[in-house]
Amino acid sequence: MTSPTTSRRRPDDDAEVIVVGAGPAGATVAAYLARAGLDVLVLEKSTFPREKVCGDGITPRGVKELIDLGVDTREEAGWLHNRGLRVVGGGVSMELDWPQLAEFPPYGLVSPRHEFDDMLARHAESSGARIVQNTWVTGAITDERTGRITGVNAKTGRERTPATYAAPLVVACDGVSARLALSMGIDKSDRRPMGVAVRRYYDSPRTKDDYLESHVELWDRSNPAAPELMPGYGWIFGMGDGTVNVGLGVLSTSKAYGNTDYRKLLRSWLDGTPEEWGLREQNADGKIGGAALPMGFNRTPHYRDGLLLVGDAGGMVSPFNGEGIAYAMESARLAAECVAHALARPEGLSREQALARYPGAVSESLGGYFRMGNLFSRVIGNPTVMRVATKYGMPRKTLMRFVLKLLANLYDTRGGDAMDRVISATTRLTPSA
Ligand SMILES: Cc1cc2nc3c(=O)[nH]c(=O)nc-3n(C[C@H](O)[C@H](O)[C@H](O)COP(=O)(O)OP(=O)(O)OC[C@H]3O[C@@H](n4cnc5c(N)ncnc54)[C@H](O)[C@@H]3O)c2cc1C
Repeated sequence: MTSPTTSRRRPDDDAEVIVVGAGPAGATVAAYLARAGLDVLVLEKSTFPREKVCGDGITPRGVKELIDLGVDTREEAGWLHNRGLRVVGGGVSMELDWPQLAEFPPYGLVSPRHEFDDMLARHAESSGARIVQNTWVTGAITDERTGRITGVNAKTGRERTPATYAAPLVVACDGVSARLALSMGIDKSDRRPMGVAVRRYYDSPRTKDDYLESHVELWDRSNPAAPELMPGYGWIFGMGDGTVNVGLGVLSTSKAYGNTDYRKLLRSWLDGTPEEWGLREQNADGKIGGAALPMGFNRTPHYRDGLLLVGDAGGMVSPFNGEGIAYAMESARLAAECVAHALARPEGLSREQALARYPGAVSESLGGYFRMGNLFSRVIGNPTVMRVATKYGMPRKTLMRFVLKLLANLYDTRGGDAMDRVISATTRLTPSA
């Protein structure tokens, strides 16, 4: 047990570990660390419950992380389950159930981030983490001699009062802005893909849907003479409360990236959907929100000088499907394990060895999948490839079942069926993009 005499804090430290950001990454790492007996301080700029622009969809990979964390994900506990993915495109609509696997549950979830993130933050608090809200971290404080992080600068409270917080280790979970990593000179790589996604809620009779729906034919008709098929997809996720979360995401590998008005693209796609779905201006709830998606490990190293990067801060969104909640929680679990081991050792080489294991651990879990995703994003950036894949791939159910496993990273790593073995082998063999 941690007590003043056994604490690993140095005399002026505010905590044994500081976590910046209380999204899925921050709340998860904080919960695990607190349970490991560590004194954890989470600094969060907003006040819960708060909005987060997102599709609100959680695949079985994310559900697994929730179960690992000890969250009751059953319908009886109030969760909205889904059975799989409905893929629409190439004149076909196909329902694909989540695969039956040993390693993942056979259902996904939909949960508004407004509630989901609040639940996770409360879970971290009840595990023993301290969360200080309304506190903006502005950058790292480093030891001039060693360059190592010793704490963070922040502005706290309504008055934005300058404050400093010190700890021997800091975990950056501050999302795509990655302000903390930037302040330590850790930049993003332009060789990795980025995505942009926008979403809006609508009142819609489609609110109760057992499937997450994805539309893989996304046409940019801003130039009517030359409509372009975009590398990305649109989604319609029933929220079960009378509304749907509707949005689209596009990869940076297309020529149109950066020159496209994504809000307009969303409106023009929705104007083409059947009237009875209700996806029209008069049924909209709130504005269109948008954000960037940092993909395929676009910010590395994931550990340096006392700072670990977790979730979006480390570029951990899937280039295949734009999913980031599961990967934020997975990397958080791995980071917590490395930090707990590190702080069980004396300061110095041995502790550093435990921390340096983190980049290897995330790479081992996600590196092959992200490498494949980075290649995939380049290939589908070509509109011809996209067109051919939609036309010839979509009507083939067995092929699509394989594609679902591959894209959603849902297969058994040990045993499994022939598809699982092919995906396992390909993931291992894919070279760096
Ligand atoms: C439109 C859109 C749709 C998406 N749809 C899906 C989806 O359906 N399913 C899915 O799995 N993923 C989806 N994603 C991706 C997903 O939202 C992210 O990958 C996920 O939120 C990453 O979690 P995180 O904890 O790393 O970062 P975040 O969720 O961004 O959390 C970061 C936290 O840090 C706080 N913070 C930031 N800066 C500071 C600072 N300087 N000081 C203090 N606190 C700070 C923020 O307030 C926030 O609470 C979508 C993204 C977008 C943009």
